[in-house]
Amino acid sequence: VRLELPRGEEAEIAVKRSAFDSILLNRTAKLGADVREASTLTSIGKSDGTWKITTAETTAALRARLLVAADGRNSTVARLLGLLPRFAKERVALQTHIPLPSGFGNRVVLQLLAGGYSGQAPVNDSELNLCLVGKPKSIRALQIWARKRFELSAGQQWRTITPLRRGTVPAAHGNLLFAGDAARVVEPFTGEGIFYALRSGELAAAAATAIIRENSLDAASKYAAQHAAIYRGRLWINALARTAVVSPKMGSILFELARLQPTLLRFLTRKVVR
Ligand SMILES: Cc1cc2nc3c(=O)[nH]c(=O)nc-3n(C[C@H](O)[C@H](O)[C@H](O)COP(=O)(O)OP(=O)(O)OC[C@H]3O[C@@H](n4cnc5c(N)ncnc54)[C@H](O)[C@@H]3O)c2cc1C
Repeated sequence: VRLELPRGEEAEIAVKRSAFDSILLNRTAKLGADVREASTLTSIGKSDGTWKITTAETTAALRARLLVAADGRNSTVARLLGLLPRFAKERVALQTHIPLPSGFGNRVVLQLLAGGYSGQAPVNDSELNLCLVGKPKSIRALQIWARKRFELSAGQQWRTITPLRRGTVPAAHGNLLFAGDAARVVEPFTGEGIFYALRSGELAAAAATAIIRENSLDAASKYAAQHAAIYRGRLWINALARTAVVSPKMGSILFELARLQPTLLRFLTRKVVR
């Protein structure tokens, strides 16, 4: 099934993650944040309502009136505070960058495969972002498929990402806010994770300002409501995508429908982008 993606200001673009992170970090530093790279949070505690965190690299503890946990799907903050939901390792993802095959073109490929799926998108003029998602027992076969399809060497380095699905962590706990994947993980197939991370980060920043500068008592609960609203009315597409990729039978029916009804597919992709 081929589909022209929406163009213009509201269209999705593919950016190499390291370039994107570096733009965000530089901007943060320019705005006056104290950026500490390569610092691993190892412990967290609270006394007199103030957070105290320590990192592996320093012995001195950092104190904060407010903490925003944006530490990803395996959130250390949530884990240390006993807030991380238990999850089954139902599927894993592998991600790597490979040389852009000649003639690949400016397109995003989502390919259903036996035992999982693959996502492919150029991230610049010379590299292709390649992802594989599958059950632990089929991920090796998917890797072999990728090796043959893209003529990769056996030494190709892959990054492993898990879990692909888990329960949500409530977004606000008084002076502790969760943003991005730390709060909620969505199926990668629709490529929405970064949008949710950025939007929830933006809302968490506004809530943090209200809590610290204005001593607002309801900013945290307001953030929780706004956080829920970002996902409202959108998650069904993500759930539909998950059904299609997890159940080959449902996937075949849905993709056949999409092939026969391109308007339906256009509607769904537009809904993801907006
Ligand atoms: C296979 C796959 C493909 C995807 N493709 C897309 C896509 O095409 N488009 C899209 O929008 N989304 C995609 N996503 C989802 C996207 O990657 C996430 O939603 C997004 O990265 C979430 O951002 P985040 O900042 O919340 O978390 P992360 O990007 O995970 O960042 C968390 C940060 O916290 C840091 N951290 C973690 N623990 C600690 C600690 N103890 N101490 C200090 N720092 C810590 C990490 O180093 C990291 O820098 C994909 C996901 C997968 C699995």
